[in-house]
Amino acid sequence: MTLQDRELSMKNCMRCSFCKWVPSMNTEEFGHICPSIRYGKFHSYSGGGKVITAFGLMHGVVDYDNKMLDTVYACSACGGCGTGCSANLSDLVEPMETIYELRARIFKDGQLPDALNALLNNLKFAGNPQGSTVSRGEWAEDLGHGTTNDIALIVGEAAFDQLQWPQLHSLVGLLDGANADFVALGANEVDCGGLAYELGDVDLATSLAKAFLAKVQESGARRILTQSDAVFAALRNYFPRLGVDLSGIEVIHASEWMAEHTRPTKSTNETVTYHDSCKLGRLSEPYVPWDGEHDTEMGSIWVRRQRHVKHRYGNDGVYDAPRKVIEATGATIFEMPRIREASYCCGLNAGAKDFNPDFSASAAKDRLNEALSTGAKTMVTSCADCACHLQQVADREGMDIKVSSLLAFTQSAEE
Ligand code: SF4
Ligand code: SF4
Repeated sequence: MTLQDRELSMKNCMRCSFCKWVPSMNTEEFGHICPSIRYGKFHSYSGGGKVITAFGLMHGVVDYDNKMLDTVYACSACGGCGTGCSANLSDLVEPMETIYELRARIFKDGQLPDALNALLNNLKFAGNPQGSTVSRGEWAEDLGHGTTNDIALIVGEAAFDQLQWPQLHSLVGLLDGANADFVALGANEVDCGGLAYELGDVDLATSLAKAFLAKVQESGARRILTQSDAVFAALRNYFPRLGVDLSGIEVIHASEWMAEHTRPTKSTNETVTYHDSCKLGRLSEPYVPWDGEHDTEMGSIWVRRQRHVKHRYGNDGVYDAPRKVIEATGATIFEMPRIREASYCCGLNAGAKDFNPDFSASAAKDRLNEALSTGAKTMVTSCADCACHLQQVADREGMDIKVSSLLAFTQSAEE
């Protein structure tokens, strides 16, 4: 797929702005779905605006400059515009698909901003985007590293964050407690290539995805289990785009496994709200390429003849399992206005925080205000990286809220 392949879809964009709003708005205050347009306040920052930029770039009427690059990368590739557009217009435009191709084109043109190039260089030379010198296998040094007939435990970038290690060890404890047949890949784990894909370096993403798969196959696993929302989304959504075939290997998120196999030993009566991370939510919807033909009826009415009936609205993400895990502790969930596929991104994803920290913080602040509007003082999210980013912004802004990852929340509830 290239930008050229998306020309017809781009032409279909009618500038209706559905991509700026949640499909079913409960309140105007929390009706936006796109943190980029909220930050930039010009149409060019929206999903539809990026489609026009891509069209203009392809036809040589848009040039590169810092402002143009800000409209593209002050964006967390969160998929909200895809949900907003497709809930109203089905597969007519699919702005997220164009955003991925736009990013690939900018990378090929050598125009990727320095802050994002640095992430790619770190991935190539240090094996992780932040250039951490912690060794990937250190968190799992005390675990066995043989083969398995069932589960390969993949932890993603949490391996480089010592603050997340207690959560990883608690997950290992849960697997042990359930007598699961599993192996932690540890030092053998390879970056999944998800960030490289989001930054448009498709060759690097493909080579990482292939190396990742080879290591899983070496372990003998039939299933991949991960607590990392980023890895989970990459496996379900990006691998098929890269032609890396995971068939025969089931991919499960830790929350799904926990909902089925574990029961908290201690209870809490806390009231919390739950943040659907984009990556466990709409971005983990399995990718199905559009397959069909364009035609006309009655001489001039343009129609699409689709060979399969699968539409992607974002509602095939994982939404129920983490809620079940939270509720099993006895906690009550007060839902925010924007949930499930209409969730609002915290602004962290796709290198957005490295490129434009102000954008990233503004998205987080919006989300924290929404969480506080529920009356809950604790926000739980499956994604430890979202939790860390949201808590940093909450602390800086003096907002009275505690943000906890699902594993950390479960852990503290069991203490
Ligand atoms: S991307 Fe979709 S929702 Fe946004 S302006 Fe274009 S057609 Fe409308
Ligand atoms: S991916 Fe998210 S931040 Fe980027 S344009 Fe779409 S909705 Fe906005």
